[in-house]
Amino acid sequence: MRIVAPSFAILDDLEEQNLAVHVEHCGRVCYKSEARIDAGSAVPFVRKMLQLQHSSVFEMAVFTLAVQCSEEAQITALYARQPRFLRLTRQDGNKLLLTASIRALRELVQAGGEDALIQALGLFLQERHPLFFADLVQAGHKTKAGVAIRKMPLAEVDRLPAELLAEHRFLAVRFVVNRAVSHELVRHRPCSFLQESQRYCRYGADRFGGEVTFIRPLFYPEGSQEFALWQEAMRNCERIYLQLLESSTPQAARSVLPNSCKTEIILYANLAQWQHILKLRTSPAADPSMREVTVPLAAELARRWPELFPASYGEGACS
Ligand SMILES: Cc1cc2nc3c(=O)[nH]c(=O)nc-3n(C[C@H](O)[C@H](O)[C@H](O)COP(=O)(O)OP(=O)(O)OC[C@H]3O[C@@H](n4cnc5c(N)ncnc54)[C@H](O)[C@@H]3O)c2cc1C
Repeated sequence: MRIVAPSFAILDDLEEQNLAVHVEHCGRVCYKSEARIDAGSAVPFVRKMLQLQHSSVFEMAVFTLAVQCSEEAQITALYARQPRFLRLTRQDGNKLLLTASIRALRELVQAGGEDALIQALGLFLQERHPLFFADLVQAGHKTKAGVAIRKMPLAEVDRLPAELLAEHRFLAVRFVVNRAVSHELVRHRPCSFLQESQRYCRYGADRFGGEVTFIRPLFYPEGSQEFALWQEAMRNCERIYLQLLESSTPQAARSVLPNSCKTEIILYANLAQWQHILKLRTSPAADPSMREVTVPLAAELARRWPELFPASYGEGACS
């Protein structure tokens, strides 16, 4: 068995990559198959995920569009659909800022019917990102109906005023935590997640070193009696898990894996959601094991965006 410390990483590098690379890097967390990434692997991976309808993978790439409509009614029609997973900001002169994931845009275009703005979005996306959108646009939808659409570079999003920045700037963070903490993270419903799958990952395999990895328990210092007991329990779980793998699948054997099991989870959300998450999850009332990662993350976000993240997050002793 291996014992590792909890950690987090902000996935800045991915924001600079093309959408397929972005999607692949996040999607492979589920299978822990990052070793298979090479120069030609992103497109086949995306096609496979589309075919499997592993839809949450397509929540992991988000972009912002500046939309100029010719008529107010085009914008009103979009709002009338009450799109839940689009970040929309209406601006003067029939303008719109729209930020959404590939998934949200795919589902919008799919359900779009005759709406002129949605048809124009479909055509724009098909031309710009055929890998993700070519299958959706119906023949005959050839008009952009006077709608002008421009993809906003991330650097331009980063220059938006604070209120718009919070809505339209998304951030992906990969956490290495125990399964109890990851279960708390996924309670944040407006966010997107991808998580290492205990159904697909066979920890008895060579690529996992033939062992289970656990997160060092915050509550029991190494050398204490409690730590020794915890270690014994983990060793027993691992032994039985590996024994079960001899005759059953990982999805069956995982039923004996405990909360302390290490998991990797990517949480992707806009800065407004990160404000909410970090306010709750750095508070002294939050789980101390959660605070191990959220307090330093909040400090890093306060350094980057002091107007959005107060330096006071995480202050105070745990209850
Ligand atoms: C200290 C602490 C202790 C906790 N203890 C427990 C516990 O014992 N048991 C337990 O089950 N959970 C517990 N939770 C989880 C908690 O109840 C929330 O589910 C979790 O913190 C997610 O936050 P949220 O509900 O504010 O919203 P999120 O899911 O993060 O959503 C963000 C915002 O979207 C809106 N929203 C999202 N979905 C809905 C909806 N369906 N209806 C209305 N508005 C919505 C709300 O405005 C919400 O604030 C605990 C959380 C904390 C921080």
